Amino acid sequence: MSDKIRKFKENVPGKYYVGEECIGCTLCSEIAPDNFKASLDEELAIGYDYVCKQPADAQEDELCAEAMNSCPANAIGKNEW
Ligand code: SF4
Repeated sequence: MSDKIRKFKENVPGKYYVGEECIGCTLCSEIAPDNFKASLDEELAIGYDYVCKQPADAQEDELCAEAMNSCPANAIGKNEW
């Protein structure tokens, strides 16, 4: 994913983020419930997920990577440092 993608402001800064291509399928928060959270823009009535917590250990990182690779909208990105 390009780094120029617009990201949701709720993303906790760090390695992973969700971009505005998200279609709100909630798959990522099912795969990595500690790190992704579903939200709703009540004004627009649009559901989307965002990174609520960056991975704290290798297991969480693995689940975040799995969520990223499983996202049907390719909306999860990873910052490379
Ligand atoms: S898996 Fe992708 S499209 Fe589905 S809620 Fe998560 S970021 Fe959005």
